[in-house]
Amino acid sequence: MFTATGDDWAERAAVLPLRTRMFIDGVWEEGSAEPLTPVSPRDGRALPPIGTASAADVDRAVRSARTAFEAGVWSRIAPRERGQLLIAFAQKIHDNAEELALTISLEMGKPVREALQTELRAVVNCFRWYGEAADKVLDEMPVTAPNSLALVTREPAGVVAAVVPWNFPLTMTAWKLAPALAVGNSVVLKPAEQSSFSALRLAELAIEAGIPAGVLNVTPGTGQVAGRALGEHRDVDVVTFTGSPDVGRMFLGYSAASNGKRVWPELGGKTASLVLPDADLERAVRSTADGCFYNQGQMCTASSRLLVPRDRYDRALEIAADVARTSLPADPFDVTTSMGAIVSERQLAGIAGFVERAEAEGGELAAGSAERFRAVDGGSYFAPVVLGVTPRHEVAQREVFGPVLSVIAYDDVDDALSIANGTEFGLAAALWSNDLTAVHTLSRRLRAGIVWVNCFEEGDMTIPFGGVKGSGFGRDKSLHALEKFTDLKTTWIELS
Ligand code: NAP
Ligand code: MG
Repeated sequence: MFTATGDDWAERAAVLPLRTRMFIDGVWEEGSAEPLTPVSPRDGRALPPIGTASAADVDRAVRSARTAFEAGVWSRIAPRERGQLLIAFAQKIHDNAEELALTISLEMGKPVREALQTELRAVVNCFRWYGEAADKVLDEMPVTAPNSLALVTREPAGVVAAVVPWNFPLTMTAWKLAPALAVGNSVVLKPAEQSSFSALRLAELAIEAGIPAGVLNVTPGTGQVAGRALGEHRDVDVVTFTGSPDVGRMFLGYSAASNGKRVWPELGGKTASLVLPDADLERAVRSTADGCFYNQGQMCTASSRLLVPRDRYDRALEIAADVARTSLPADPFDVTTSMGAIVSERQLAGIAGFVERAEAEGGELAAGSAERFRAVDGGSYFAPVVLGVTPRHEVAQREVFGPVLSVIAYDDVDDALSIANGTEFGLAAALWSNDLTAVHTLSRRLRAGIVWVNCFEEGDMTIPFGGVKGSGFGRDKSLHALEKFTDLKTTWIELS
């Protein structure tokens, strides 16, 4: 099911049905704000315009979510029943996985094979997992004096706004929706401008699976209008956000200026991959480079900094450059392609700018260039870049969100740690070594929400995902995510 085959994906894309209107209260509606005019980064082809939500439209979506919540059609049904509906939703997504994968590939440029094998598989798994978890949430009954009874229960928070990015459009959405819905909330989803088609189709499948109207609403639109309206809405209880640090902090501001709603920001990263002297250099460098170039480098966890002992720096640069030269972009609709298009011309220009400035600052270009790559006419492609830099170079500090690897030499372990911890971010880090003591000690000292040891990007629904410092404090996945969308309630009962 999750294996992409055939060579007719371009023909299928040409006749792919795309939803172009807002989805409120189970009904397609025209948006009253300026329509989006998306283009496919694969070939620059114009896609159908999408109606977008104004603040008044967002208000209607929030009211629909609130009405559904208060009616109890979802919030007060048996958790087991909610779980079964989420599992039915997962099955619907599974049955429509090829269409959804193709929609993602068309709208944001990742290879259709990747969209299907990795993204859709993860999305189905996520909804299933939280569907299974829905009736396994336990409340507490603390010990109190014999004449009283205390219950500590978890109540759904109410209306949740989910605002997500385009890089893993449906995975990020599933990470928000599945736990929020599992515990009984209603949701309003604001997808990224570049990936609204897949989100709209998802909402339709939720209705087909039997999830009641109003429980999941989708308001496409710009961040400035639709995103902000959700952030400032006084009847939204929780915002769960994945995106850039600047916008994440804006949501904290919207909350402060409105109703003090809970905001869960999951922001960018600048993952350091720290190779210790005893590590297998070839393996560590190849995995790090792959982890930096994966999804065209548009990944919050991208292993964009490779830290190696100074005496192994030249060799590391050579190996990384070799990976870069053999990981060139190609047509996302070809099932043999593993690197697709950059999401937009704007993003492409931003990535190229980082490379130009790194060269101007004295960075050593070991592979690639600041020029665009030509894979499909009219598309936005960029070949991977490897740069030898110092920790203070801009490219070693800021999130590029493109396939650009910074290779940095360190002198000793303390130096390596201070470089690894020396950015504003703290999402993830990787360590390469077989020295158990070093691994354990260093992983504790790395200021990151996730540390991978002798691997990269491994994980499971059972483990939390999120960062520290400038990477925000929200956590997706695992049972911990359920806590974000519930309130603790204490009920004290006098017995006599
Ligand atoms: P972004 O520009 O911050 O956008 C994220 C979402 O916020 C989009 O839906 C966007 O709408 C909306 N938005 C933008 N400006 C807004 C505003 N002023 N008020 C309210 N909402 C607003 O991020 P992106 O470019 O889509 O994604 C890249 C970023 O996401 C990177 O920094 C990356 O590291 C981060 N990311 C983090 C994780 C994680 O789990 N930690 C995972 C993936 C990505 P528009 O579509 O209109 O821009
Ligand atoms: Mg954006």
